[in-house]
Amino acid sequence: MERVFIGDLTLHTGKEVHIRGWVDVRRDHGKLIFLDIRDMSGKVQAVLLPSHEEAKVAVETFRSEWVVEIVGNVNKRPEKLVNANEKNGSLEIEITKATVINKAETTPIDVNSDGLQMSEEVRLKYRYLDLRRERMTRNMRVRSQVIKFFRDYLINKERFVEIETPILTKTTPEGARDFLVPARLSKGNFYALPQSPQQYKQLLMVAGFERYFQIARCFRDEDPRADRAYGEFTQLDMEMSFASQEEIMQLTEKMFTEMVESIFPEKHIMQKPWPRLTHKEAKEKFGTDKPDLRKNKEDQDELAFAWTVDFPLFTEQSEEDFFHGSGKSKFAPSHHMFTAPHPDDIGLLETDPTKVRGLQHDLVLNGYEVGGGSVRIHQSKIQEKVFDLIGFNDEQKKQFAHMLEAFTYGVPPHGGIAPGIDRLLMVILGEQSVREVIAFPMTGNGKASIMEAPSVATDEQLTELGIRTIEKNK
Ligand code: ASP
Repeated sequence: MERVFIGDLTLHTGKEVHIRGWVDVRRDHGKLIFLDIRDMSGKVQAVLLPSHEEAKVAVETFRSEWVVEIVGNVNKRPEKLVNANEKNGSLEIEITKATVINKAETTPIDVNSDGLQMSEEVRLKYRYLDLRRERMTRNMRVRSQVIKFFRDYLINKERFVEIETPILTKTTPEGARDFLVPARLSKGNFYALPQSPQQYKQLLMVAGFERYFQIARCFRDEDPRADRAYGEFTQLDMEMSFASQEEIMQLTEKMFTEMVESIFPEKHIMQKPWPRLTHKEAKEKFGTDKPDLRKNKEDQDELAFAWTVDFPLFTEQSEEDFFHGSGKSKFAPSHHMFTAPHPDDIGLLETDPTKVRGLQHDLVLNGYEVGGGSVRIHQSKIQEKVFDLIGFNDEQKKQFAHMLEAFTYGVPPHGGIAPGIDRLLMVILGEQSVREVIAFPMTGNGKASIMEAPSVATDEQLTELGIRTIEKNK
């Protein structure tokens, strides 16, 4: 008999079925034993009547989280026992045969609660169990649907092409510290993990793809926060040629609105089209460039999307920025160094750079920045001017010579955006931390879940890489 998914059981009412899954709970009521059985598609109650002697021997041994196989009849529950809150609440399986596939030890964490009261460290150590809980399963499934929506939308409706870019690459200047990877084939040199695919996506515009996207993993060595995972995060990275800032924003807005309406019909978007604020307005009115525009901040289903535009091209550079190896000037790019100045402000680059506005657009949702992007500089002269203003020396400029060279061979005007998938889902799902929407996030102090990375390398590995460590940490 073919296995039936528990989520499809209503289609089999009155028939005999074969299901497989985990024992969620077992309840012994003297003569009757009840089991809740769970598979990837749902849960169902199964009942063992005293007449099924043979099955009873097996079922009596069953414990929570054992992997089992059940054969039984799908019966309608009597009216007064119907549980309207559950998908399979109107039926139950009358067990005729029960088999253990695999036993389970008592799990170190309870997977039947929402898990929010538990120590995160322990949850991450046993993430494969933590992910069994209903809330986490839902989060992962919703994540997959949202990503599928974006993929289908961009490829089928908007002619985008999905292109993967390298992970072992050179530093990309997004303003954070890089992760470095030693290069065995050229000892003493290092790859950097991309802080974003920024340079590659611009080079793909030079290559003529015109509309690129990627579900891109980005790596930044910055301190974690509730709304920022340590180490790595995922962006919907997009770039478009011959598109104005207006067109980039409109495409994004339309796609996000349709995504919410199709995947989260219970949510309501506060204002359509989304309000737009200049950086100045936002700061003056709300004291922040990512204001929370919800009317009722308690309402979980209210989504207040907004755009912030007209950012200053440069901000005062902090000591941290100096450390990250950007320029040695008092200006740092507000977004990144490829962001185009507002065409009306080009003159000010010479006279008063702090007054120059950049063609940057930030996507804001309920008080969080869930994405940022810009129209890019596509004239080498202006790019060089920006390099000078941010205080790049010749050595630093050389690091971007490939971009300037590429731009000499016919570069279309272009721009893009990169909404962050983790943060977007955190806000929409009402989670307290981005880690709740990532399958295997790092802990707050930079330890990989389950795997205990980073870990010590052997002397042989280090010698092969031409590396000597000063201090070995356990
Ligand atoms: N690379 C930028 C970022 O990661 C996004 C963009 O400008 O498209 O913030």
